[in-house]
Amino acid sequence: MTEQLKVQLTKRIVELQQRVSAIHHDFADGRDADWSEQAGERENEEVLNALESEAKIEIQHLSNAITRMENGSYGICQTCGEEIAKPRLQVQPAAEKCIQCAD
Ligand SMILES: [Zn+2]
Repeated sequence: MTEQLKVQLTKRIVELQQRVSAIHHDFADGRDADWSEQAGERENEEVLNALESEAKIEIQHLSNAITRMENGSYGICQTCGEEIAKPRLQVQPAAEKCIQCAD
């Protein structure tokens, strides 16, 4: 069960990493764009930046979850030490806190 989840999370990390490199690819394209399009490019760059940091944060959370699976602390709330409810983990496999502590 945990192994299966680990595979899923690993796949998700790979997807996100691909997304991050696709964003870098777009940046490179953007620099070659016409000067007249620079303003639009800059706005676009902000959106891409936001997407990139979101993806990086998620990668971090997912790798932390995998680390916790490996050391046996997966599914335990990092704040109160209680078990995180299964339905919550299904929705948010990388959750580090139970519902009470997350709020
Ligand atoms: Zn908690």
